[in-house]
Amino acid sequence: MAGAKRALITGASRGIGAAIARGLAEDGYAVILNYRSRDDEAEAVRASIEAAGGEASLCRFDVVDGAAAEAALEGLLAADPRPIGVLVNNAGVNDDVPFPAMSREQWSRVITTTLDGFYNVTRPLVMPMVRARWGRIVNVASISGVIGNRGQVNYSAAKAGLIGATKALAQEMAKRKVTVNAVAPGPIETDMLEGAPLEHILKAIPMRRVGTVDEVAGAVRFLCSDSAAYITGQVLGISGGLG
Ligand code: NAP
Repeated sequence: MAGAKRALITGASRGIGAAIARGLAEDGYAVILNYRSRDDEAEAVRASIEAAGGEASLCRFDVVDGAAAEAALEGLLAADPRPIGVLVNNAGVNDDVPFPAMSREQWSRVITTTLDGFYNVTRPLVMPMVRARWGRIVNVASISGVIGNRGQVNYSAAKAGLIGATKALAQEMAKRKVTVNAVAPGPIETDMLEGAPLEHILKAIPMRRVGTVDEVAGAVRFLCSDSAAYITGQVLGISGGLG
């Protein structure tokens, strides 16, 4: 099934997105790595996938910019007859601060990256998936969107919104063999965790450790596989028991 397909992963220049891209390339997908700014890091991920025998290309655009996303996605669809069967909406940012001190800019940037990003990238790719009668959409939410987290009112709201979008779109797509699921990672060892109060965080996690990017990628690979054909509208926690 995967042989002739392409997979687009947003925010794939590092962290969780890069691990998902590596994993889907191993599963036989031609992966398209979206990112916003860091050309050198994206290029390093692309090169590592090709060195391992996979196929990867770069597609730089800001997921918040609807016109840029539409132009880039139209280009991707026109340039190659192979369907984009898998979309992983992974691009995300956090900007943590107690709510009374949160600026409008901090609120908006986190919400728009997650929710406008979801809309801007998913909408152009949904009808081609429906026409191909096969698709996998995986949204990278967070356990914060399930249970909430102090200092993350913006981030928790964005991820809870993404979970709502996941469940609604899953219902719209269910008859079309397009599944839509979310993963909800707990704290994962990436740049995003820099400066986070780790000692305090670990106390809340039943497994008493943070997760790895490959542990998230493994779950996403499963949700994209044929084995997960009957799973849609679900939120899979990858959080060491947190939540
Ligand atoms: P990360 O290391 O900070 O990487 C973020 C990636 O997203 C980078 O590739 C970045 O590209 C890209 N990106 C950010 N804004 C973008 C935009 N507007 N348009 C396109 N690309 C954009 O983050 P991560 O920890 O791997 O997190 C990945 C996802 O997992 C996020 O949605 C995050 O909320 C979620 N998550 C993370 C954790 C955690 O503990 N790490 C836990 C739960 C959920 P550039 O570098 O080029 O800007």
